[in-house]
Amino acid sequence: MCRAVATGIIVPLVWLSLAAAAALDENKVVDLTYPFDEHTIYWPTAKPFHLEVVAAGEAPGGYWYAANNICLAEHGGTHMDAPLHFARGKRAADEVPIQQLIGPAVVIDVRAQAAQNPDYRLSVADLEAWEQRHGRIPPGAIVIMWSGWGERWPDKKRYLGTDQPGDVANLHFPGFSREAATFLISQREIDAIGVDTPSIDYGQSQDFIVHQIVSDANKPGLENIAHLEKLPPVGATLIALPMKIAKGSSGPVRIVAVLP
Ligand SMILES: [Zn+2]
Repeated sequence: MCRAVATGIIVPLVWLSLAAAAALDENKVVDLTYPFDEHTIYWPTAKPFHLEVVAAGEAPGGYWYAANNICLAEHGGTHMDAPLHFARGKRAADEVPIQQLIGPAVVIDVRAQAAQNPDYRLSVADLEAWEQRHGRIPPGAIVIMWSGWGERWPDKKRYLGTDQPGDVANLHFPGFSREAATFLISQREIDAIGVDTPSIDYGQSQDFIVHQIVSDANKPGLENIAHLEKLPPVGATLIALPMKIAKGSSGPVRIVAVLP
């Protein structure tokens, strides 16, 4: 009797898990992450990615063995800015809830504007134009600026505006405007913002006001998102899971999207 009851419970659970697994079409999963290697673009004041080979060959036991040490700055490549980055006392990288990093991807196409002006800042009008076509930005959205800058990766001179270490005076790339960040934080219930450029603030920003606004609201920012041409303006689900660095102001993040 006990066995029959147990079987009666277990079998439907197996069916349920099989049904859930089948519900995710793996052909609809796309990778929006740049690889970490010697070409990865970091902020001009940060150290480049470094991989030190510890072992790569046949071990004394006759088997293959490979292992490396890596050294990397927090802010480079595809990464998440934690709120702690620009707001004292707000969440560190390990404290950002994963729920805040999974959500509907809202992709704002500003490629035409950015092609005319490398210092372009995504405006409230851009957000309103998107909403007129696709409806109100949904709660929990991850709002992404698509500037087209990904075509320039990994050419530092074209992507950052400079290829000189330490040169922050000549940074030129698009970002969000102060007004657009304020609108998203105060008028919409977003979870995060993201960009296909090195920073959610444009290159010539001196006060990093978008970082301040977003961080102060305890929301993360995603930077150097790759391959945004793979995303539709609406309908994809973004999943951005950063390395869980305790007390980190940021962390490298693997971003994938599930297409509609
Ligand atoms: Zn950053």
